[in-house]
Amino acid sequence: MQIKKVVVLTSGGDAPGMNSAIFGIWKECLDKNIELYGAIGGYEGLIDNNFIKIDYSILVGRINRGGSVLKSGRSPRFLKSTYFNRALKNLKDNKFDGLIVLGGDGSLRGAIELRDAGVNVISIPATIDNDLNFTYTLGYDTATNNIVSVIDNITDSLNAFGYGAVIKIMGRNCTDLINNVAKSINTDLVITKPDFDMKNLIKKINFIKKQQTIPPIVLVLEDVADTVALASTLQSECKIQMRPHILGYIQRGGSPSAFDRRYGITAGKLAVETLKDKECVMIGLIGDNLTKKPFEECFKI
Ligand code: ADP
Repeated sequence: MQIKKVVVLTSGGDAPGMNSAIFGIWKECLDKNIELYGAIGGYEGLIDNNFIKIDYSILVGRINRGGSVLKSGRSPRFLKSTYFNRALKNLKDNKFDGLIVLGGDGSLRGAIELRDAGVNVISIPATIDNDLNFTYTLGYDTATNNIVSVIDNITDSLNAFGYGAVIKIMGRNCTDLINNVAKSINTDLVITKPDFDMKNLIKKINFIKKQQTIPPIVLVLEDVADTVALASTLQSECKIQMRPHILGYIQRGGSPSAFDRRYGITAGKLAVETLKDKECVMIGLIGDNLTKKPFEECFKI
């Protein structure tokens, strides 16, 4: 089919590289003489008919920044049929030939609903969690590097004082990010389940303390354990200062890595190219290759 008018949205948690993907989409649309619009705030923009025409003035100076020029967002309204139908009507009334959704597994569920209602939709896995069935999701590489870099800074002070730390890491219920960081800083003190073995953790910290080399750094996945309470328990059990750190948004903000920029731009271009086939696929990296997968095959958890 001939594609004349496309809309893109960013949904769920923002991921560094979303702006690079929007840039790739915009450039491909420009080259192919396709009109490009952005829905503001994820699925909320579809519901409220809140669209902007994307031109270079919106992207200039932002391609190499995290966040999303279109604002990302969660939309509980989109789950209700009244608002979903309103979103559908707006897509139709604006005569969009295709929709590109940048987001994680929740956003993909939304894309599936739209596909089933007849919308020509392509998705790109954009989430720092790496919880979709590709080798890498967009933003995962940058988040890993952000976290490792911050832990390096924390480690300087831990070394200076002879302290340890308990650090809360994002990832929702996916362990890829925390395990990737753990390998990168060479710690096996990783808590990914609420029923972890406290005795074994204390034993390992005491062993590290005795070695007097690297500081004990415990990584905790999101809400699996209370970071502050755990640091306090380990401090009294192991007789070493254990400083709690909750990194928060520092993990996913900032400049996307070269890897994520290339990923975003190339996936964005291929997404526009693929819309003409009305295939409704997710486009992400398997190894080093951009690969198209049917939506249902993209869930990992
Ligand atoms: P992520 O895409 O990063 O996983 P969320 O899980 O918060 O983020 O999902 C983003 C948005 O996708 C939700 O706010 C909602 O609008 C939409 N969404 C999530 N689950 C569904 C679903 N089962 N059906 C339709 N839309 C959904």
